[in-house]
Amino acid sequence: MHELSIAQDLLEKVEENLGPGGVRVLRIDLKIGSAAGIVLESLRFAFEIAAAGTRAEGAELSIVSEPARSRCAACGILFQFDGMIGSCPRCGRLGGELLSGNELVLQSIEVADV
Ligand SMILES: [Zn+2]
Repeated sequence: MHELSIAQDLLEKVEENLGPGGVRVLRIDLKIGSAAGIVLESLRFAFEIAAAGTRAEGAELSIVSEPARSRCAACGILFQFDGMIGSCPRCGRLGGELLSGNELVLQSIEVADV
């Protein structure tokens, strides 16, 4: 389950952003590209497990899914798609060069003092 390692990486990033001090994480805003291959429900579940006992325990994951962008390898046009792999709307070719959409971006963290 690779969502668990993603959740652990995410927690590390959150911790780096928090620094020392008595705070509790209420909410984490994420942007995830549709081609990242992340199952959102699995990520939420994995995060709940990984965050147990940390300052992010019980934090809400607010996730925005972004469509991915590719350049068609056959006809060269740019197109957007949802999911892991897209097909060119002009010539129908699958895949192409992925320009964006496989990233997970930590947008913001909402915290409260303990
Ligand atoms: Zn094409």
